Amino acid sequence: MTTDAPKPVAPAAGGRAGMKKELSDHFKAYKHVWVFVEMERGEVHPVSWELMGEGRKLADKLGVELAGVVMGPPGGAAKAAASECFAYGADVTYIVEDPVLADYRNDPYARVFTNLVNTYKPEILLLGATTLGRDLAGSVATTLLTGLTADCTELAVDQDGSLAATRPTFGGSLLFTIYTLNFRPQMATIRPRVMSMPERLVSRSGRVIEVKPDLTEDSVVTKILSFLPDRSTAKLNLAYADIVVAGGLGLQSAENVQLIKRLAEVLGAEYGCSRPAVQKGWMTTDRQIGQTGKTIRPKLYIAAGISGAIQHRVGVEGADLIVAINTDKNAPIFDFAHVGVVADAMRILPALTEAFRARLLVNRLAS
Ligand SMILES: Cc1cc2nc3c(=O)[nH]c(=O)nc-3n(C[C@H](O)[C@H](O)[C@H](O)COP(=O)(O)OP(=O)(O)OC[C@H]3O[C@@H](n4cnc5c(N)ncnc54)[C@H](O)[C@@H]3O)c2cc1C
Repeated sequence: MTTDAPKPVAPAAGGRAGMKKELSDHFKAYKHVWVFVEMERGEVHPVSWELMGEGRKLADKLGVELAGVVMGPPGGAAKAAASECFAYGADVTYIVEDPVLADYRNDPYARVFTNLVNTYKPEILLLGATTLGRDLAGSVATTLLTGLTADCTELAVDQDGSLAATRPTFGGSLLFTIYTLNFRPQMATIRPRVMSMPERLVSRSGRVIEVKPDLTEDSVVTKILSFLPDRSTAKLNLAYADIVVAGGLGLQSAENVQLIKRLAEVLGAEYGCSRPAVQKGWMTTDRQIGQTGKTIRPKLYIAAGISGAIQHRVGVEGADLIVAINTDKNAPIFDFAHVGVVADAMRILPALTEAFRARLLVNRLAS
């Protein structure tokens, strides 16, 4: 594989249309949409499939192919992930297997990915805005001297075929649409649960392109000596939970967080909170929901004592049913909640917990 990307050109005057004309012939050769399939310890992160659904829409609009890129050690997991790529809509899957790629390390992954891009020249690259995806995307974009729009909430194809990547800015009060005009590929990261999960059709198939990387363990300076899973977060499934119960400053004290936890336990739900509740030390950062926390798409979201500020709203508006409990009938959360309860959370939460507990007991006795 060769690295033959030219030096970046200075943006032209005359607005975006003027700048677009500067795209060199070299970059015009870039075609197709790629999704990086994030795999750790043999498991694919579901954000990869959410991106596959989004990539499919972009590829169809551009009339090009959608490809998945899977990297990992030899031994089956990467190949299994490849068939999943097709099930979620890919036309092509690039598989790169090598023992050096057994665990994620920035250096070999970025090297392999950069070489793949320079060889096959995709025009759009999508990665999950996970810890791994953010780490990899930054290195790949920097090495390729191209633009990267992080934490996008919307992707579209412009009239001239450019990627229009939209993301919140200025603390979530504005949405910016960002274009990568003079460079290729156009890169974007998207957080888990921001895009919906596409339909999985196992009958779909496509082309597999196996790539042999030029890697040796000696050439990688970082070494993984052992793997210690973080047991406190390993079980946390906030982003993908079907039911989430959350509390905000309206809970008034750390003790009242127990009311959220008890209701969540009875419902078999995950629990979370607003950012100020984390700042107060009532819950850990990994339970924060919103723009700078997790995006959730549960079937049911119960928010107690949360005002519904825009930074919180962007993380929850994909929920099927939002139930808000707030003492202030003018709280912004009632603008987007499906069910609003104007009441004291400290009275409603225990009552709800008991009602659901009794219901579960009745159901259990009846079955
Ligand atoms: C760059 C940036 C990023 C941010 N990211 C996030 C983020 O990811 N997530 C996030 O949540 N916020 C985020 N914020 C903060 C956000 O702007 C709001 O300040 C925050 O969401 C408000 O939290 P809250 O609703 O818990 O508190 P408040 O806004 O103070 O609301 C408390 C609510 O509780 C109600 N209440 C009071 N007593 C009771 C009671 N007894 N029973 C029921 N209701 C009661 C009140 O009427 C009020 O509506 C961010 C802000 C910035 C600037």
